Amino acid sequence: MDYAIIADAYGKIEATTKRLEMTDILVDLLKNTSKDVVAKIIYLTQGKLYPDFMGIEIGIAEKLAIKALIRASGRKESEILADLQKTGDLGLATEIQLAKKKQSTFFSKVLTVEHVYESLDKMAKTTGSGAVDTKTAVLAGLLSDASPKEAKYLIRTVTGNLRLGIADMTALEALAIAYGGNKDARGSIERAYNICSDLGRVADILVREGLELVKNMHIMVFEPIRPMLAERLPSPEEILEKFNGKCLAEYKYDGERIQVHKQANIVNLYSRRLENISSQYPDVIELIKKQVNAREAIFEAECVAVDIETGDMRPFQELMHRRRKYGIENAIEKYPISLFAFDLLFVNGKDLTREPLTNRRAALEETLNKNVQLQIATQKTVNTVKELEDFFEQAIGEGCEGLMCKSITKDSVYQAGNRGWLWIKYKRDYKSEMTDTCDLVVVGAFHGRGKRAGAYGALLLASYNPEKDMFETTTKCGTGFTEKDIADLHKMLQSYVIVRRHTRVLSMMEADVWFEPVVVLEVLGAEVTLSPIHTCSMDAIRKSSGFAIRFPRFTGKYRTDKSPQDATNSKEIVAMYQSQLKQITVK
Ligand code: ATP
Repeated sequence: MDYAIIADAYGKIEATTKRLEMTDILVDLLKNTSKDVVAKIIYLTQGKLYPDFMGIEIGIAEKLAIKALIRASGRKESEILADLQKTGDLGLATEIQLAKKKQSTFFSKVLTVEHVYESLDKMAKTTGSGAVDTKTAVLAGLLSDASPKEAKYLIRTVTGNLRLGIADMTALEALAIAYGGNKDARGSIERAYNICSDLGRVADILVREGLELVKNMHIMVFEPIRPMLAERLPSPEEILEKFNGKCLAEYKYDGERIQVHKQANIVNLYSRRLENISSQYPDVIELIKKQVNAREAIFEAECVAVDIETGDMRPFQELMHRRRKYGIENAIEKYPISLFAFDLLFVNGKDLTREPLTNRRAALEETLNKNVQLQIATQKTVNTVKELEDFFEQAIGEGCEGLMCKSITKDSVYQAGNRGWLWIKYKRDYKSEMTDTCDLVVVGAFHGRGKRAGAYGALLLASYNPEKDMFETTTKCGTGFTEKDIADLHKMLQSYVIVRRHTRVLSMMEADVWFEPVVVLEVLGAEVTLSPIHTCSMDAIRKSSGFAIRFPRFTGKYRTDKSPQDATNSKEIVAMYQSQLKQITVK
């Protein structure tokens, strides 16, 4: 299949900001695709070659890309840099430069999707000495065969700047329409995706073998399962009411969520974002090998930093010391951890995700050989508000964030990839009107003055709206940052600067600088109010009103464990507003 067809579709997708149109274009593209390349196209349109958990990235630096472009086009570096300066986008600069190249040398070979994919794969996997030369040669080869438009998208793909804004949900919907019969197939396709986290594999099975086989896909060890998430409520009364008077309350540990996969003597660990983080925790790997009774198991645990002297739990931030390439042995000694397991999803070939929580929990007890480092989350079945409150105090007293309250009815399955009311979090009251923090995405910034001159004075932050697959602004935050934060953020955000507002960002405010929505920060505000200038859940309660977080303050927590789609969603902010109103009425 010709790569030109993809490049055309990319062009059309770029030209629209409407989700429905985007889906239609993708449906057309997928329908006109030969079955062998559907999976590749799914990965490519998201700027990838493999599912995220495999950790294989193309990652070509801009410098190297320019070198390849010089070789392929015969243009001068200064000319390329001048266009880059003008457009702020190496993709566009490439298109301009190649358009100037003499026609006669064009199209020496037609680029196919297969060839492009193989070449990108080669670039991603080449390491060691001579890697730079090989990568440059492969990229230059692709560029010399590419049309200017194809080259634009190739360059954006290899430098990680494709940014078409095709999120998982859009791709799932397009697959359902193109190959599942109609939109109704989305549920089954989504379930398959939720248990394997590999959209390309689901697409491949769908086009080759049909929807029935997608429905039969099952959990496999070393394919991470998308995590089940909790809703929130501010009071024990409301929580018990939601559970008809009875639930299982568990300590809510303040650490990093880890999904453990074990098969025989091989163990892999996945983060909440489903990245393979095994290399950060060699001590956990050894622990699992020794303490897990089953040949195969997938379970979830919170990994918590503990004090060497006292065994007390330490804050989440201390786990940051494990995020390093070198010196991990030293970090293990200085920052030891304990695991608190809370769910078992798979054991010795058996999928437990459709079993009620009590069965999963009983199987978890059987599967783990507990010790000081590997424990099971402290829990209690509660029937009254008093019991729930007492247990909450006990949890806080032991250094936890609060409680996770879980349904124990026969329908209390593990809802992979979903946030629902089967789990409800109940966190400490922060002594302010807002009872919980929010995790918001940095979408823009305003220049700083005075002490902050040359850096950002305030950030424009957004919540995520999964229905629209858009980021909606909800606050402008300039407080809570230390001097170090200001410097770190300025540096961190440089790689995400874009020339215009991102197509997935809805904003009525004009920021001085716009970013690709990537960085997630934890913020605590005083209250949620209606606002005419913020787009979060616009029109949900009142026409032309969105929701704003007042007096926001950065808590110091960089939520590197969250992808932008994992940020607080816009509906949750409306729920916070409504629960505030209730508190006022009760008072
Ligand atoms: P979310 O994961 O819901 O988007 P978040 O990452 O901001 O939100 P919290 O709101 O603090 O985290 O609560 C959910 C997280 O709590 C889980 O993802 C998990 O990492 C952690 N957790 C701690 N203890 C438990 C437990 N006993 N059961 C389930 N999750 C727990």
